[in-house]
Amino acid sequence: MHLLTRPFREGWIEETDAAMAALGAAHAAELRACEREGRFPAAIYREMAGNGWVGTLTPVEHGGLGAGPTEYCVVAEGVGRHGLVTPQTAAQGQRWLLEWGSDEQQRAYLPAIASGELVFSESISEPGVGSSFKQMRATARRDGGDWVINGSKTHVNLGCESGLTIVYVMVDGQLTSFLVETDVPGVETTHTHPIGLRMVPTADVTFTDVRVPAGALLGEIGGGMATFLTTFNLSRLGNASELIGLARRALVEATDYARERPVGDGVVTDFQAIQWKIADCYDALYAASLARDRALLVAEAGEDFSLETSLAKKLAIDAGERVSQEVFALLGGHSLYREQPFEQILADIKVLRVAGGSHEILRNYVARRVLKSASYEGLR
Ligand SMILES: Cc1cc2nc3c(=O)[nH]c(=O)nc-3n(C[C@H](O)[C@H](O)[C@H](O)COP(=O)(O)OP(=O)(O)OC[C@H]3O[C@@H](n4cnc5c(N)ncnc54)[C@H](O)[C@@H]3O)c2cc1C
Repeated sequence: MHLLTRPFREGWIEETDAAMAALGAAHAAELRACEREGRFPAAIYREMAGNGWVGTLTPVEHGGLGAGPTEYCVVAEGVGRHGLVTPQTAAQGQRWLLEWGSDEQQRAYLPAIASGELVFSESISEPGVGSSFKQMRATARRDGGDWVINGSKTHVNLGCESGLTIVYVMVDGQLTSFLVETDVPGVETTHTHPIGLRMVPTADVTFTDVRVPAGALLGEIGGGMATFLTTFNLSRLGNASELIGLARRALVEATDYARERPVGDGVVTDFQAIQWKIADCYDALYAASLARDRALLVAEAGEDFSLETSLAKKLAIDAGERVSQEVFALLGGHSLYREQPFEQILADIKVLRVAGGSHEILRNYVARRVLKSASYEGLR
């Protein structure tokens, strides 16, 4: 269901999808093992980077593909469809660096992130702070020409594997972001064990008197919300795409099975109750894909796409949750074994429901926009 309209170049979407399918099939056993064990498949990630799928947003002169939001979303959807490892944190890192990074920061980090050599992570959430930044406890204080960072972060994807992390802290009560190389003294990481997206393992990350130079500041002091928003609008569209990819995979595999599975005098898909489930799943995915593509058109035009991206991720969560539940009716007992992908798809969708902008937060934003607008955002 590729509804995207602006290919990077003729045939790129189809070629990329076929290449991602081939890579997923070639490494199926290792990818599955990594998922089970909560292990980052570093070699496969670098192979993906070699195809330009990690440095999608990075300009060619910095070693990237030099493409844009549409291609990033094609890759994100392919990751969900073909069971590959997500390059989402890398994409966010690129956005942060391209939007806010100094020349020096861009030169130091962009090529290494695009090549897959430097793994990037985001240290934002804290044990006591998720959706609301107001209670953020981590701090940075000036000490001579340096900054000294203290605080505890949690749920950090690739926290243990990354060489560079962005840390959100308070500087005199103002939200501010820093880029911290994780091999400096005072950074400690411990793996944690979520149910989904297990190939990008999470970690608790603590910063104890971590000293970084003035050049580690990203953007301005107090500019944390601005840096956060420019990146998260696009990453939420990546989340939407990965959700669509995961749900497409589940629906395709379940339908393939159900149309061949004999039950009584026919097959499972002869039942109207089952056909309606397929129709309901298909239209949920269709709506989510259209909303995602509309958001991409607005993003590609360089306009504010906060409303569209919130709608797209919300509809993709709805579609993902619907599909990942309904497929169990098409599959019966066949689906309830760990050798099958359906348990993992369900868990991945549950993680994407919360991480990087939860369903509730997205709805809050859409409602705020509708209520603030004289036309109710086009309803009137
Ligand atoms: C597997 C995984 C990976 C993650 N990766 C990262 C990462 O790499 N880096 C990072 O910094 N963080 C990461 N996160 C954290 C994630 O972004 C947070 O879980 C998310 O922001 C929500 O915060 P919380 O879980 O603390 O929920 P809370 O903020 O405690 O909220 C609890 C529930 O209340 C709802 N809620 C909150 N506020 C409102 C409101 N105003 N109205 C209605 N409902 C509301 C939320 O949607 C949620 O369902 C990850 C989380 C998971 C589970």
